[in-house]
Amino acid sequence: MTKKQAREHFLRKRQELSDNEIEISSLRIFNQWKNSALTHFDSYHIFLPIKEKKEVLTSFFIEFLWMHHKKVYCSKVHKGILLHYEFTPQTQLKENSWGIPEPTDPENVTIKNIDCVFVPLLAYDVSGNRTGYGKGYYDRFLADFPDCKKIGLSFFNPVVQIEDIATWDVPLDYIITPDYCSGFPIEEK
Ligand code: ADP
Ligand code: MG
Repeated sequence: MTKKQAREHFLRKRQELSDNEIEISSLRIFNQWKNSALTHFDSYHIFLPIKEKKEVLTSFFIEFLWMHHKKVYCSKVHKGILLHYEFTPQTQLKENSWGIPEPTDPENVTIKNIDCVFVPLLAYDVSGNRTGYGKGYYDRFLADFPDCKKIGLSFFNPVVQIEDIATWDVPLDYIITPDYCSGFPIEEK
């Protein structure tokens, strides 16, 4: 499957999910993580979902991380790149033109290190390759943090292979779905 085919396929599959299914599946994804060996990191980067695009709801993760006094970061798009901000219960959010919630009046922080990044995606394959919407934001972001653990969150099983993976594509270390939390390679589901 090519990136283009994978994007179309999973965009369609996500649109078929009801709000209730999204909520329940997101909670199951969170519980898979909570019961995994991936909760010990000190700092986490989290994405804030585009509701209209039916992305995984990350509010369960955020509440848990705050409760456990972890450092949490989120991003804001600025001139084609992601700038990173500390994300606290005091952070005010506003949706940008793509429907992505972003900090309204943030203090841009220079981040030297992020231990773990939760990565949004449209599709991933059994080797850990991923594709997003086709703008490469996360590839550019993750290239700056080569040592962080990259955890993809998805409602769905992997495709066998994304064929047109490029040199700039940054692969995942782990994937969490409602049914499993796994490293790579994973056996075909
Ligand atoms: P996505 O990962 O969102 O599915 P692609 O992998 O197709 O999207 O990447 C989209 C664009 O982003 C590509 O045209 C590529 O040139 C650019 N890109 C990705 N990573 C980098 C990088 N590290 N440096 C510069 N450009 C990049
Ligand atoms: Mg890519």
